[in-house]
Amino acid sequence: MPKAPAIDQQRLLDLQSLDTRLAQLAHRRATLPEQAELDAVLAERRTVGDRLVAARTLVGDAERDVARAEAAVQQVRDRADRNTKRLESGQGSAKDLQGLQHELESLARRQSVLEDEELEVMERLEQVQAAAAELAGQDAELEARAVEVTSRRDAALEEISGEERAVVARREAVAMTVEDALVALYEKVRAPRGGVGAALLRARRCEGCRLELNASDLAATRAAASDEVVFCEECGRILVRTDESGL
Ligand SMILES: [Zn+2]
Repeated sequence: MPKAPAIDQQRLLDLQSLDTRLAQLAHRRATLPEQAELDAVLAERRTVGDRLVAARTLVGDAERDVARAEAAVQQVRDRADRNTKRLESGQGSAKDLQGLQHELESLARRQSVLEDEELEVMERLEQVQAAAAELAGQDAELEARAVEVTSRRDAALEEISGEERAVVARREAVAMTVEDALVALYEKVRAPRGGVGAALLRARRCEGCRLELNASDLAATRAAASDEVVFCEECGRILVRTDESGL
């Protein structure tokens, strides 16, 4: 049976509570609500970003359609202007002039159709521009939220790290007061036992597994010298005896 001074065994409980605190801090870091919030904001921003890219593509398409429609209207207007000038000059045969007159009428109808089309594409451009602007606004809002949540997340992480540094320093100080062999034994026992290697025996109950010692284990524990390291028969943890143990 391993041996260690009773006081060293009792200091294992301090070591254990500091290790438990470190495990809690690691768990807190891994499950930070600010991180979950940030992940959600970033995911939403990716979705909005994809929609924004699609909306800007539609704006580009609509701008080209408007330019094409404007050019088509302009072409008809220019042609009509030329015809009007030629008519006003009165040059050419009566047949030519009549032909020009007919073409002018048909150009006017064509211009009216093209202007309607131009209006339509301009309206569509306004709609897609408005949609893109709305998405750009959402994107900017999400970006600002991401910055804000990141700063809260970083503050929470910094708080955890600060406490961790303090606990690690205290742990080192406590570990220095315990025999190396006992610390090594504690580490070996706790690794496969959910991080708990030493448990107080309180009122005949192991605080590691919460089970009460049976009569024979109790008798053996009672009989063990104070510098003998005893283990819980149920969970295998180092059982630390104090005045509270009920022996
Ligand atoms: Zn136990």
